[in-house]
Amino acid sequence: MSVAPERKANQGTSTTAVQGGEARMKPGNAITDAIFCASTYTFDNTDSIIRYIEENQVREEYGRYGNPGEKTAEAKLAAIEGGESAVLYSCGMAAFVGLLMAKVSSGDNVVFFDECYHRSREFCGKHLARFGVETRTVKTGDYDAMEKAIDANTKMLISESPTNPHLSCVDLEKFTEIGKKHGVETLIDATLATPYNLRPLEYGVDYVLHSATKYLAGHNDLLAGAIIGSEQQLADVRQLRGVMGGINAPHNCYLLLRGLKTFSLRMQRHNANGMAIAQFLEDHPMVEKVYYPGLASHPYHDIAKATMRGFGGLVTFNVKGADWRKTANVVDNAKIFKIAPSLGGVESLIEQPLVMSYYQQTPENRAKFGIYDNMIRIACGIEDTEDLIADLKQALDNA
Ligand SMILES: *Cc1c(COP(=O)(O)O)cnc(C)c1O
Repeated sequence: MSVAPERKANQGTSTTAVQGGEARMKPGNAITDAIFCASTYTFDNTDSIIRYIEENQVREEYGRYGNPGEKTAEAKLAAIEGGESAVLYSCGMAAFVGLLMAKVSSGDNVVFFDECYHRSREFCGKHLARFGVETRTVKTGDYDAMEKAIDANTKMLISESPTNPHLSCVDLEKFTEIGKKHGVETLIDATLATPYNLRPLEYGVDYVLHSATKYLAGHNDLLAGAIIGSEQQLADVRQLRGVMGGINAPHNCYLLLRGLKTFSLRMQRHNANGMAIAQFLEDHPMVEKVYYPGLASHPYHDIAKATMRGFGGLVTFNVKGADWRKTANVVDNAKIFKIAPSLGGVESLIEQPLVMSYYQQTPENRAKFGIYDNMIRIACGIEDTEDLIADLKQALDNA
């Protein structure tokens, strides 16, 4: 397995996941965090309100501006990512929209690598366009094209790493170098990598985005999203979140905190399962091609190996000589793997991108995005490796 760059934190990721961001003593001397079900927060008297405003005191005021559980979750996420500050949202897309709405204005443009989450592309291409913000899309990994697309009005360079479902990896040194050279901020959606496997801030990326719905919360039981970066660069983002809403209810914050305690442990199993299953599939006679950055056959293996500690639980493969129906049979035959979108939870999931996310697209459009009729995407959970392999084996053999 690869060697990740040295961590700046002076403690391990498991210790940070369990204890990071938490106060030592909590209300009632409880070891866990309290859930404060409050929409508003009280002041002693008029003078205390004035002191709060004039001295910029840190305390709660009204639920749309935050709640205590959310502050703890933000502090823990920032600690795990090795960043200064985190802004938590109700889901990953709310985080993406929240960041861009704070950072771009009419006349600006953003430059994208094309293998981005389709809803992120949709928000920029369809909705930011209505406000006069242009989206420029270049081929993933084409750094010259990205640099050429930049002009004086470019505000953000955007990519995922690894991408979904092809698992292409960005050379973060090149990516941030282009941004810095042209004075343009950079955003990496590292949902698939997680801070266990990749730390984009250490390469100088300005903003890291996570759909915390996935590996960070990890139990397929909540939605959340976060942006991590410097306090100063996130000040206007946090301010706008207080206006737009899109925050988490206190119960949701508690569930996220609970999920995060086992984040590091879970990632070890997701990584191990992903690697073992990618290797099993690559050796299977019915498999035409496997997309997994941990395999030497993956076009981005060298970058992944040099920058990532592990390669995650997402594995994509094409079934040899299969039409869409035979491919669907493999999906339908799976017993442990449940048929659902999403990834990063303890339960293993399986889906056919053609049906799940691209059914209403034209074949030409699907081809453009590299979505084939015989493609299957699996999200390995934390079940036992041998059981997952046996399930996939019978699903393929019986298709
Ligand atoms: C799921 C996902 C999102 C969107 O997150 P939600 O929490 O579903 O809003 C964004 N980016 C990536 C890479 C994702 O997998």
